Amino acid sequence: MTATHSTRMLILGSGPAGLSAAIYGARAGLAPIVVQGMQPGGQLTITTDVENYPGFRDVIQGPWLMEQMQAQAEHVGAQMMYDQIVDVDLSERPFRLRGDSGTLYVADTLVICTGAQAKWLGVEGEEHLQGKGVSACATCDGFFYRGKKVVVIGGGNTAVEEALYLTNHSHDVTLIHRRDSLRAEKILQERLKAHPNIKILWNKAVERFVPGENGALDHLVLKDTVTGEESTLEVDGAFVAIGHAPATELFQGQLPLEDGGYLKVEPGTPKTEIPGVFACGDVMDHTYRQAVTAAGTGCMAALDAERFLSGIEIDLHGHVEEAEAAE
Ligand code: NAP
Repeated sequence: MTATHSTRMLILGSGPAGLSAAIYGARAGLAPIVVQGMQPGGQLTITTDVENYPGFRDVIQGPWLMEQMQAQAEHVGAQMMYDQIVDVDLSERPFRLRGDSGTLYVADTLVICTGAQAKWLGVEGEEHLQGKGVSACATCDGFFYRGKKVVVIGGGNTAVEEALYLTNHSHDVTLIHRRDSLRAEKILQERLKAHPNIKILWNKAVERFVPGENGALDHLVLKDTVTGEESTLEVDGAFVAIGHAPATELFQGQLPLEDGGYLKVEPGTPKTEIPGVFACGDVMDHTYRQAVTAAGTGCMAALDAERFLSGIEIDLHGHVEEAEAAE
């Protein structure tokens, strides 16, 4: 026989967005259930040093931060489920979701925080050298390459922004792109090309990341995408910036998605098109994508879910309105 769990608030995902929603939901008396998903703790569990999450003077470790958040959420009454949702029915309330374990979750409100994954090149040495010279987040890790030689791989907005950001720390930044023109917006391209500390390598694909004797990244092997010629480039840090993939496959056809597959929300809020369904964190945010912004939107989603259940809605100007209640 399969188990059924009914809850006032079901949270999908256990990164900073999901666990912040859980803390706020639990403290509002909603006894939330958190379905943790494939990667309990989310993207921070594959990060090492974290220096930009407020509240900690010294460097902390990503996995440790997520353990603390989970412990805090459980301490205030959230229940964690080691399960992965495989089927979703949002056609009527309560919403019905099925876990990989066979468990049925019946929820008055749903908070979606399934996150996004940075895309990787999938070439030799890349996975092995993550945290040892290879990263997918300049905002997170750029600081560790002060005064060092760094490269960014990609040609979209993210790659150009990361290259510009890295000039705060390094005087030797190279953008490596596989074609001879960038996809990024004109204004960013102009800034990039005008920057004295940024070089651009056109028509180059990374073939592999190669470690040195100390086990950290030493150089890249590049291949010219026009001539096929191979070359090497010595670097201290390489930032892969070829896009992010939000985890929204489950909701296709049930909730509107934006370009790139992000969940669409009412601007400035975590509200989706379906009353009682909220989205927060990287699954709806293609701009900021930080742990602290994810936590902030998780808090917003829980507050809005609680208001929704009590039949109140507060608009962006702070005006209180009657809303359709969940029961
Ligand atoms: P993107 O626009 O999809 O660009 C990805 C880049 O990576 C492209 O230049 C692509 O090359 C390259 N790439 C993809 N796969 C590759 C591979 N296997 N090997 C080498 N290069 C590869 O992704 P994004 O820059 O992350 O932006 C995603 C969305 O967020 C966009 O809509 C973007 O405008 C938005 N965004 C906005 C801002 C902002 O407004 N400030 C900031 C960041 C992102 P090709 O060009 O050859 O395809």
